[in-house]
Amino acid sequence: MNEEKKLVEGFDYQMIIDFYKMVSRQGPGSAEVTKKALGFIPDLSDSSKIADIGCGTGGQTMTLARNTGGHITAVDLGKGFIDLLKENAEKEGLGNRITTLIESMDNLPFSENGFDLIWSEGAIYIMGYENGLREWRRFLKQGGYIAVSEVSWITKERPQEIEEFWNRNYADINTVSNKIEVMQNAGYLPVAHFIQPENCWLEHFYDLMDDIVEPFLQKYDYNQEAKDFVESQMREIALYKKYKDYYSYVFYIGQKI
Ligand code: SAH
Repeated sequence: MNEEKKLVEGFDYQMIIDFYKMVSRQGPGSAEVTKKALGFIPDLSDSSKIADIGCGTGGQTMTLARNTGGHITAVDLGKGFIDLLKENAEKEGLGNRITTLIESMDNLPFSENGFDLIWSEGAIYIMGYENGLREWRRFLKQGGYIAVSEVSWITKERPQEIEEFWNRNYADINTVSNKIEVMQNAGYLPVAHFIQPENCWLEHFYDLMDDIVEPFLQKYDYNQEAKDFVESQMREIALYKKYKDYYSYVFYIGQKI
């Protein structure tokens, strides 16, 4: 698969990793939101097996480890991200609760019916929401849960500029009701969904970028590709601020039936 081909299309993956590893998350989210989503999942125990797919540097992995007793397999294609996750997990004494894996999410070496819970924040878009839900389903035990966050339209209609931006970058974007229906059709009981609040985008994600732009550009000797990449991020942030009433990340929680 063409890594990170959607929003960051055309940019070098190592460069993307160098940028995003300077911030604590690689997509909109927060510990509060991860805990809220976890609250919809009953019956987790110390023997639960959890997969965290597209884990990045492990913002949500650490929250999952702190708030469950189970074992987490954290997967990402970016070695730079996984290295940081391992470092953070060791520092917090959570190393023995988390196994890391550098692998593509469309090539997971998992056995069927092995997991109690599959988690994926801000990453299922890489496979496509529907495709990811269908592909990963076999790795869940019967009655197991999936929790994913996915960018979604939160109004029925929206201005053309933002519609065009998202259709260009992620054609799978759709309304919340559509995403729930897709989840149901993929073989899950839709258990819950909620819209992530604005602080997931600003305070916990976009705002953190202010401090890293300079050191990042310096590292890349202010070359054109790095400048273009930063510019694309800034454009995305400006669009979010202008059109945040129309879209957000939404958490979807389903149970394998
Ligand atoms: N869950 C994290 C990261 C989300 S960003 C958070 O919310 O902070 C998306 C992540 O998917 C990045 O870490 C990126 O390296 C990873 N990724 C991109 N392509 C991938 C692939 N094909 N397989 C697995 N991970 C991939």
